[in-house]
Amino acid sequence: MTITSFNPATDAVLAELPSHDEAAIEKKLDDAASAQRQWARTPLAERMALLKRVAQALREQKAEMAPLATLEMGKPLAESLGEVEKCAWNFDVYADAAPRFLADQVVASSASDSRIVFDPLGVVLAVMPWNYPFWQVMRAAAPVLAGGNGMVLKHASNVPQCALALEAVFERAGAPKGLFTTLLVGSGEVARLIDDRRIHAVTFTGSTPAGRSIASQAGRALKKQVLELGGSDPFIVLADADVEAAAAVAVKARFQNTGQSCIAAKRFIVEHAAADRFVEAFVAGARKLVVGDPMTDGTTQGAMAKRNLRDELHAQVQASVQQGAKLLMGGKPVAGPGAFYEPTVLDHVAPTMTAASEETFGPAAAILRVADADEAVRVANGTPFGLGAALWTSDLDRARQLTRQIDAGAVFVNGMVASDPRLPFGGTKESGYGRELGALGLHEFTNIKTVWTGPART
Ligand code: NAP
Repeated sequence: MTITSFNPATDAVLAELPSHDEAAIEKKLDDAASAQRQWARTPLAERMALLKRVAQALREQKAEMAPLATLEMGKPLAESLGEVEKCAWNFDVYADAAPRFLADQVVASSASDSRIVFDPLGVVLAVMPWNYPFWQVMRAAAPVLAGGNGMVLKHASNVPQCALALEAVFERAGAPKGLFTTLLVGSGEVARLIDDRRIHAVTFTGSTPAGRSIASQAGRALKKQVLELGGSDPFIVLADADVEAAAAVAVKARFQNTGQSCIAAKRFIVEHAAADRFVEAFVAGARKLVVGDPMTDGTTQGAMAKRNLRDELHAQVQASVQQGAKLLMGGKPVAGPGAFYEPTVLDHVAPTMTAASEETFGPAAAILRVADADEAVRVANGTPFGLGAALWTSDLDRARQLTRQIDAGAVFVNGMVASDPRLPFGGTKESGYGRELGALGLHEFTNIKTVWTGPART
């Protein structure tokens, strides 16, 4: 069996890679288990030194790695370079902060020494998506490894070269063999991997339907899981906001990574009094996007990662127009080879229309006009998702109240939602549960152990 590495910008096959057979999977799981046992006993300072070397290896390999992401999933090369750099930053942040995050927490108590200690869980299976083929994996890997765990990666089938490049980074950094290992297998193998005795926990990033399936398998196996799923993030602009600044940030929030980001702003919920100004500035910004060869300097919107995803996006746009949305720009695939789609803006979208009620995973923005802040929050919360949200207003007291009313794992005021190694990241409702990044992301994959010690008895 082979896994095909395919360029969605040109429709060319890049490579056919042999997938791992039964014997190879067994060997890799054995290696992962024994590497992790050793790693769990490795002094913290040595573990942190490896994290630093991984950061260094990423920077050294950036020029070779970044084009792989662009070739396999179509994002502009400048974005791929930034992605590798962010992975390195993440490893640096954890190398510096993890000793503090993992320090014993002493709980005040009179006669005893009561403390919380953070022990490793074991080997974590990471099932990951293609949209940030390096970042999604390394976002999870740094805290998992810092905590004394190992990681087995089952990456998305359309980014096999990226998956192997990540394994190579750990080799280059001198990680124990198997501590981070890539399995080239299809999604059909995931259930038995979850069941395997050498796997102790699961971290999944991807679509909500796949998350449901993985959650039920991990639930049956009683294994800890963190789920980072889909989203339809609202980007609320109230009438008192700096509308032009909001619109400029909104273009980036929707169209970066060719719109294929879980935390991309997907629904722009704008108070009537600001709507015309916002729409004018937003469309002007979107018209400046340069769609084309993602390997070429100056391209700001590359190809979508798969043709079927482009078809799905197009069907959502068409359905929304039929339902009464007003198409302001774009609205169709770019003719010729590659899975390119025109930057698309839909105005007068109602909450029940497809572009607002479903996740749109590509370069299409939905603008919803609302009467006031209360309606904005109601509309923002009116989906099954709850990943991120942005809120633009000049009244920070009101903002603080509104942030508590929005169902989301993160609310960014006067900015766009972004992940940051120092801050917890994750969703609520059908966007998943558990947290990555920050101290909480590290604690997710530890055994949070209570140690109570009474006075010594002789
Ligand atoms: P996907 O189809 O769910 O695939 C993600 C991973 O899961 C891939 O490795 C895939 O393997 C595997 N997979 C698919 N179906 C599976 C199943 N039934 N059982 C076990 N494994 C399965 O998602 P995607 O299309 O790659 O990514 C887009 C989605 O991910 C969007 O919904 C997006 O919002 C979400 N996402 C969320 C976050 C977040 O942090 N919350 C971040 C990025 C993306 P194969 O490739 O072999 O099928």
